[in-house]
Amino acid sequence: MNTIILHSQALDIANKMADVCGVAFEFRRSHFRFLTDKKIDIVALREVFSVDINYLPDFDFSQTALFVSDMDSTLITIECIDEIADFAGIKPQVAAITERAMRGDLDFNASLIERVALLQGLEVSVLSRVYEERLKVSDGGRALIAFLKSRAIKTAVVSGGFGYFTRRLAEDIGLDHDRANTLTIEKGQLTGKVEGDIINATAKAEFITELCAKYQTTPSQTIAIGDGANDLEMMAVAGLSVAYHAKPAVIKFANIVISYGGLDIIMDFFDG
Ligand SMILES: [Mg+2]
Repeated sequence: MNTIILHSQALDIANKMADVCGVAFEFRRSHFRFLTDKKIDIVALREVFSVDINYLPDFDFSQTALFVSDMDSTLITIECIDEIADFAGIKPQVAAITERAMRGDLDFNASLIERVALLQGLEVSVLSRVYEERLKVSDGGRALIAFLKSRAIKTAVVSGGFGYFTRRLAEDIGLDHDRANTLTIEKGQLTGKVEGDIINATAKAEFITELCAKYQTTPSQTIAIGDGANDLEMMAVAGLSVAYHAKPAVIKFANIVISYGGLDIIMDFFDG
């Protein structure tokens, strides 16, 4: 038997889905669960009902030790680099490159170097303006982090973006760890370069391995969540992967797909 989770509280959708699936369902506080031995095409049902529908994956949620999230367009609603570029009047150009990189159509390192070079000469104060004026935590993000902490699960953000933002975000919402690229600054201006090794897909996956060693846990007890092609390697390492409002390649790969609701949907899966 398999369990399908309908992340909705709408009884009419649950009834319609029961008709399609030919199975009964039970209501949980925040969602519906369908127990079925039939093979149900949940990809088609998601489109029909415009809600998140997932199989309950073969993962022991009660043993989760670590939660690692991408930042831009996952834990927060913006791509920081695109917003920085807006202050240089080049957001459309930079955003177009970001979009292609996140789809996996461009080499990540080369695309990052190219985009950061376009920011050369910007006043460093644009970073705080982006954080304070534009950065928003994704729906359900704060509730999810509070929930994970209540279960003593370690939390981390890892980003192909910039440490200025991951650090402040980690502090604001109470994450245990962060890792990202460092923008170099001279005389109060961005130099258009990043310092040290680039945090790309491989570095994101290595971050999980490193944190697992630190906490003496295993990647099989880790949940990784992201939206872009550079999240696929860390998702492959983790015991459970979640695609959040993600690019097609990520949706195809992930164990859990969230395309309509907020990050708090992840809490439904712990409701054993
Ligand atoms: Mg992202």
